[in-house]
Amino acid sequence: MVGDPWYKTTLRWAQTNLVEIDPERYDDKFWREHWRRTRVQGVIVNAGGIVAYYPTELPFHHRALKLGERDLYGEIVKAAREEGLVVIARMDSNRVAEDFYRAHPDWIALDIDGSPYRQAEKYVTCINSPYYSEYLPAVMREIISRSHPEGFADNSWAGLGRASICHCANCREQFRAFAGLDLPQKHDWSSEAYRQWIRWNYRRRSELWAFNDRVTREAGGPDCRWMGMISGDVLNNGNRFIDLPEILALSPIVMLDHQRRNGVDGFEQNTEAGKRLHEVGGWDKLIPESTPQYQLGAPAFRLASMPPAEVRLWSSSAFAGGIQPWWHHIGAMHEDRRQYNTAEPIFRWHEANQDILVNRQPVADVGVVWSQANHDYLGQDRARDVTLNPYRGAGKALDKAGIAWLPVHADAIAGASGRIKVLILPNLGAMSPAQVAAVEAFAASGGSVIATSESSLYGEHGTRLDDFALAGLFGVHRRPGAHGGQDAPDASIETHARHSYLRLSPELRAGLYGPHDATAPAAAGTRHPLFAGLDGADTLPFGGYLPSVAVDAGTEVLATFIPDFPIYPPETAFMRTFRTDLPAIAVRQGPAGGKLVWLVADLDRCFAREEQFEHALIIANAVRWALGGELAISIEGGHGLVTPTLYAQGKRQILHLNNRLLTSRIPGRQDELVPVGPVTVRLRSAGKPPAQVDLRVAGKQVQARSEGNSLVFEAGAILDHEVAVIDWN
Ligand SMILES: [Zn+2]
Repeated sequence: MVGDPWYKTTLRWAQTNLVEIDPERYDDKFWREHWRRTRVQGVIVNAGGIVAYYPTELPFHHRALKLGERDLYGEIVKAAREEGLVVIARMDSNRVAEDFYRAHPDWIALDIDGSPYRQAEKYVTCINSPYYSEYLPAVMREIISRSHPEGFADNSWAGLGRASICHCANCREQFRAFAGLDLPQKHDWSSEAYRQWIRWNYRRRSELWAFNDRVTREAGGPDCRWMGMISGDVLNNGNRFIDLPEILALSPIVMLDHQRRNGVDGFEQNTEAGKRLHEVGGWDKLIPESTPQYQLGAPAFRLASMPPAEVRLWSSSAFAGGIQPWWHHIGAMHEDRRQYNTAEPIFRWHEANQDILVNRQPVADVGVVWSQANHDYLGQDRARDVTLNPYRGAGKALDKAGIAWLPVHADAIAGASGRIKVLILPNLGAMSPAQVAAVEAFAASGGSVIATSESSLYGEHGTRLDDFALAGLFGVHRRPGAHGGQDAPDASIETHARHSYLRLSPELRAGLYGPHDATAPAAAGTRHPLFAGLDGADTLPFGGYLPSVAVDAGTEVLATFIPDFPIYPPETAFMRTFRTDLPAIAVRQGPAGGKLVWLVADLDRCFAREEQFEHALIIANAVRWALGGELAISIEGGHGLVTPTLYAQGKRQILHLNNRLLTSRIPGRQDELVPVGPVTVRLRSAGKPPAQVDLRVAGKQVQARSEGNSLVFEAGAILDHEVAVIDWN
């Protein structure tokens, strides 16, 4: 709205990330033209920190190699102002040159031997030193006095990561004041000093953020906000001690730096990042995302064009997650000029459709619950295996089934009631009593809950309990012992520790085509809806981790565990133990009409790792059973490759359909768009009459029809994405 501050209104961003020789070659005319063509409203301009792009008067503030007395930063700011653009001063503040170190050795982070932490030829500064409390504020004040930027964005603001303990005098004193303890000597999650050090580090980043924001507002006015760049990778945030709920509460806009693919997931990781950050920070906040127009594989090629298909898939995945576009080039001059043509069509589409891309609320049936504490205190240094893969596997299973879902923070479960019908707790082991109570209340109000593996077996700081805190709700109790493992299995067929199976009940094979089996019970009864589509199999591959549990009366065991047996040589590959009574999947009715499912076998984690389709199918079936077939949305014809993300905006619904087909062996790299479909969309309509459907990518309207409680329409084939706008009467 008119009169709103810049951080509420600036939807499209540009960044020419200057390199040190750019003062000699920056082409003002070209970049102005490029701003106009790409319809940006804000620019991020390199100002100071590691390198200054203006004639700074501060000692040791290193000027760019070719800057001389020129004020390139100031010239770009002036040009941007003439073009009517918002200006953010970019800083990068975590390391300094040798001369700086000699002058202020006490501002540099030290290892346990008292040697400075170094990155290449630079020295890493300690966030608890006067470099952050005195020197950087002076830089910010100097920049503000010269150019009055609308705000600041700092690249690597959070200092040393979790892998490095700083032993400088500042850290020693400040940690003692916080915890009354000496700094931990090594990484040891079982030591109280280390766990306190983790907590202190989170606190210090939140304090530093608030401090920097005070500095810029005092010098630059109430809307001159300071923002650190935020990663879209949840473990990366933990490794840098960024407490997302605390930090996002401090930040009026989220400057997202999620440029690098994780190499495991496809483009959907960008939709997930947007949804997760919005769920924590609020859906009214803008989240522009720095999007490389250059190649960011391994290795990265800063000067080479990223294939347009890859930028389009990443950007459209961002839009589905409520993220705004921000083009990013490294350096102001490139001989590979293909990269200058990529952003314009994406940004023009965004401008033409911005009415449906912001100011909206998500609609989803399922919430997948996560928390930083679970990744930290349960995951520790194995978080990828222990806590992240279960979360990823649950999300991937829902994506494959075309089920709309949201990442829900464990502290926000209470707010999910009424908005979401099914909660998935993917090995959410570390839970606070309040989080446990919120899950119980969710079930007591009619919600369904799917818990996996060791959810609720630990306190919020990782202390193991005698039994699951949710044992009473589910009627599932932890017993001593476990089978398998949480890490990746040994791929050698000479080993068989993970060659385990699940036995489904009732066993139906006596009535199916196949050899006579004296061990088969008479085929009787029907399978539970969790096993829809699996009637032909009495056993399924497993290969994961199974904690031993026992169940109460009233809780039904649908599948049991079959222990591992040899794989090789083939003559030895037969079950040694055909049947156990170890529960692998248990279900019961919830207290108020919902369903409760405990996937004791970690099918979510296994699916993230091995992609056995049956594991994903059971997770999706559990959700469908819980919803009683009443999904907010379902998709036909997408082959599991089209994922829906649904929003409401007044009387409208806005549906993103994203193509997830990967053509590269490295997920997230792609040089070609391959259409998937045509797809048919079925939306829960509560009997409302059919409405016109606007396809904003195809640029046409299609007629919808009513079928029972559903609105059905054809969305065509999906190239990179489609966005359907349904205007309800
Ligand atoms: Zn320090």
